[in-house]
Formats: sequence, structure tokens, C-alpha cells
Amino acid sequence: MSTENREACSPPSGRAAMKKELPKQFQDYRNVWVFIELEHGQVHPVSIELLGEGRKLADKLGVHLAGVVIGPPGGQGTANAIADAAFAYGADLSYLVESPLLAHYRNEPFTKALTDLVSANKPEILLLGATTLGRDLAGSVATTLKTGLTADCTELNVDSDGSLAATRPTFGGSLLCTIYTLKCRPQMATVRPSVMAMPQRVNKPTGSIIRHELKMLEEEIATKVLAFFSDGDSNTANLAYADVVVAGGLGLGAVQNLQLLKDLARTLGGDFGCSRPLVQKGWMPVDRQIGQTGNTIRPKLYIAAGISGAVQHRVGVEGSDLIVAINTDPNAPIFDFAHLGVVADAISFLPALTEVFTKRLEPRNLEKFVQ
Ligand SMILES: Cc1cc2nc3c(=O)[nH]c(=O)nc-3n(C[C@H](O)[C@H](O)[C@H](O)COP(=O)(O)OP(=O)(O)OC[C@H]3O[C@@H](n4cnc5c(N)ncnc54)[C@H](O)[C@@H]3O)c2cc1C
Repeated sequence: MSTENREACSPPSGRAAMKKELPKQFQDYRNVWVFIELEHGQVHPVSIELLGEGRKLADKLGVHLAGVVIGPPGGQGTANAIADAAFAYGADLSYLVESPLLAHYRNEPFTKALTDLVSANKPEILLLGATTLGRDLAGSVATTLKTGLTADCTELNVDSDGSLAATRPTFGGSLLCTIYTLKCRPQMATVRPSVMAMPQRVNKPTGSIIRHELKMLEEEIATKVLAFFSDGDSNTANLAYADVVVAGGLGLGAVQNLQLLKDLARTLGGDFGCSRPLVQKGWMPVDRQIGQTGNTIRPKLYIAAGISGAVQHRVGVEGSDLIVAINTDPNAPIFDFAHLGVVADAISFLPALTEVFTKRLEPRNLEKFVQ
């Protein structure tokens, strides 16, 4: 959080006074921008989620929404990012910076491209996905421009005075804090994948493209990409975009019981995850953690086995369409927000559930496992 942002946490009366102090050089900053992230030529879904949020902010402010695409020239990636993402999800215009130096993500040329674009075109709000790339780029762009950046927002809104109200969890997730960037522009925010809902495509998308040149030479870039190796790991988690997620917590009791989650997830064509203590115990890698400091998920079906439902876990799962909780304690907090609750021992209920789905047995075969 920048100094600007910390000051902005003062009470509303102080905020109003500070708003008047917005320096002259920032007073003509207009429009909402969304950085459209490309992952090996494919648009990252978080960019589309942000276009949906950006459209709402732009409409409230009565300004344009722009998508920002940075990549190598002539590739299908940048063309698709503009046509299939920016314009298809509501942007009025797109800024495009193409250069061979931008073929792979490197901090220096991407920061140069984005900061030059901002300085030339003066957006008031700039949104990026809180992905590995987005976090790296947002931090260096904010520090280069000396502006405020609110990371990992869970809600974005426009205040009555037109400021961006960027809300995120604080104090270990027990409180929500709304942060304002009052004395500098653009107001920057990152949002994690799946935190915002996917918007609808617009009918007959159109828009204008504004090209910018990257004023940088390869000799000025310290980082060199010599080769790219995929981790090739078919076990890589894809929790943020899975339709079905089965997760376990400390209630599973032993590392070998994690197989019960994997079996059910595979049977349902989904992915598996866990609560934080399982990562801390070294039972699962950190990319499978669900919750405030892990993945935020929005599956159609979330099955939580042996998870108590602490607030830090809840914030990462409450966007799920259907939450099914399996817990031996009928008073476990997870039953306060689960849509379906099963008071049962997860160690025997999970394999029974897998069997029911595998053999398409009658659900009543599960009744003997419920307490
Ligand atoms: C800053 C901060 C960030 C955090 N971030 C995260 C985060 O991102 N994600 C996260 O998950 N947590 C996070 N936590 C930790 C969080 O506060 C909880 O401690 C954690 O979620 C609890 O994990 P659990 O539900 O697996 O374990 P417990 O709270 O110990 O719950 C275990 C549950 O299993 C039940 N149970 C026991 N035996 C069985 C059985 N045989 N069958 C079925 N149920 C059984 C028990 O009744 C109990 O409800 C964070 C904490 C802090 C302070």
C-alpha cells in the first residue's frame, strides 16, 4: 500500500478535504483501462472478468473503457485479444503496443510500454489481474508512475465524488478495508482470477484501435529469455476455473486420505484443493490452497470435506454456485454458508460418494454414512 493509500484510510471528512488537493497535473485524467494479459497467445480469463467490472465503472463515471494489449507484432494473440476480449466484452477502444521485444513477458519492456501509454493518454483507473504476471507488472508500473496500487481487491466501485473505492480484506480477512488513491493518478487495482463474475459478450462489438510504439532497444533490457520450458506437470492446479472442486481440511486426519479427494474429483471431472493448514503441513502444494491467501474459486459445485469454514476459507469459496459441506461437527461454521450440509465422517463418506457417482447408484445408498 502506498503512502497515498495509507493516508486515504482516514475518515470521510478527511477524504473530502484531500480530494480537493488532487494536483492540477492529474485533473484531466479520464477513462478506465483494463490490461489484457496474454498467456502464450491466449487471453487470461481474469482480463475478461475485469472488462466486465471496468465497463460498470466506466458507465458510472460516464467515460470510455479501454483494453490495453501488449505483445509481439503480427501474432494472432494480440489480434484475438482485441477482437475476442476487449471489444467482445464492452471496451470502446483498445491501445495496442506491438514489438518483437514483447514476445515473452519481461518486466522492463512491459513496464516501459504501459507507463508510456499511461503518461501519454492519462487514464484515471487502471485494472490488472492479480496473476503472477499482473502482480509483477502492476507493482513496477505503480512505482514508476509514483501512484497508489490496491492489490487483491474483492470489490470495485465509484464513490460519490468519482474516486475509485477499492475494497480488499485486511487484518487476516476479518475486516474489509476500502482504499482510495486521492493525490495521484491513475488509481490502480489488481483483482485475483475468479473473484469477479464473467460478463456476457456484447452484441455486435466494435471499437477503435490506437497503436503506440515501444521506444526501447533490446540492449536496454537486462532480462533475456533463452528458452521456454513448460513445467509439463499434468498435476498443475486449475482451481480458479474448474467447474467442480473437491477440497479437504484438517478433518481428513492423515496425508493418505487426500487420495479420497482426488478420486472423487476425478470421478466428477473436477479438480481438488485444500485449506491452508494442509499446505502448512506440506501435504499439498500451495497452488492447491483455497481461500484468502490461496485461490478464489467459483465452481458450479464445491465439496468441502473436513473443513471448518473459517472466514479466510469462506471468502475464497462463497462465489460457488453450490457448496456441499461434509463435517462431523453439526455446529461447524461451514454449515452457516453451505447450501447442503452432511454431518458425517468424511473418511467414509467421500469414497461412498465416489462409488455412487462411478456406478450411478441411488443417492439413498449414502444414508448409512450420515450421522
Ligand atoms: C492471515 C491468514 C490467512 C489465512 N488464509 C487462509 C486461506 O487462504 N485458506 C484457508 O483455508 N485458511 C486460511 N487461514 C486459516 C484459517 O483461519 C483456518 O485456520 C483454516 O481454514 C482451518 O482449516 P481447516 O478447516 O482445515 O481446519 P480446522 O479449523 O481444524 O477444521 C477441521 C474441521 O474438520 C472437522 N472434522 C474433523 N474430523 C472430521 C472427519 N472425520 N470428517 C469430517 N469432518 C471432520 C472438524 O469438525 C472441523 O470443523 C488463514 C489464516 C490467517 C490468519
